[in-house]
Amino acid sequence: MKTARIKNSIEEFPIGKIVCVGRNYSEHAKELGNEVPEKPVLFLKPASAVIYSGGEIIHPDYGNELHHEVELVLLIGDSIKNADKAQAEKAIIGYGVGLDMTLRDVQNELKKKGNPWTLAKCFDTSAVISDFILKKDYQLKPDEKLELKVNGTVKQSDTLKSMIFNPTEIVEYISSVMKFEKGDLIFTGTPAGVNKVNRGDKLEAKLGEVAELICKVI
Ligand code: MG
Repeated sequence: MKTARIKNSIEEFPIGKIVCVGRNYSEHAKELGNEVPEKPVLFLKPASAVIYSGGEIIHPDYGNELHHEVELVLLIGDSIKNADKAQAEKAIIGYGVGLDMTLRDVQNELKKKGNPWTLAKCFDTSAVISDFILKKDYQLKPDEKLELKVNGTVKQSDTLKSMIFNPTEIVEYISSVMKFEKGDLIFTGTPAGVNKVNRGDKLEAKLGEVAELICKVI
C-alpha cells in the first residue's frame, strides 16, 4: 500500500483516493485551448500510481507526449462530507508538491472521442509526490512558489495566487460530490508551461522552501 510520508517524521498516512483538479490556472487552461471552468474539473488517479522523490517515471509505450504538470498536493486528515468552509480548511492537514504526469497526445484523442482520461492520467508512476509538511508546522503563504525544472532549466514557475479555486474551495466542492477520508490526496492543478519530457530527463519540483522532489524519466 502507498503512503503519504511526513517530512522529518516517521508518521505515514495510507493513501486512499487521489482526486485531481484540471484547469485551475487560467494561463494553463488557455495554453491547451480550454475554457476557464466555472466549477473545478475533476478526475481521479489510483493510489497505486504513486511514486516518491528519487523514483523513476516509466514512460508508457502507447503515447509519445508525456507532459510534466507540477502541482500543490493537499493531504486530507479528516472524514468529511458536504464540508463548509471551516470544515474544509480544517480537513487539510498537510501540503506537498507533486507531478501529475500526463500523456497529452493520448488525452487529446480521448477528449475528441468524449472518452474518460484514464489511459492518459492513471498509468503506473503517473503520480509523483514529495514528503508532506504538516499545517501545524508550517502555514502555506498565498504567494508560495511552485516550480519545475527539467535537466536544470525552469519550465514551470508560478505562485499559488494564480489558482482559480483555492484549496479550501476545492475541498468544499469535492466533498459535495464524494466523501473524503484521512489519507486522501488532492492534486490542485498545474500552472502554465507544461511540456514534453523524454526518457533520461531529470525532473525537479519545489513548493517554496518546504517541499521538493527529484525523479527521472525512463
Ligand atoms: Mg494536472
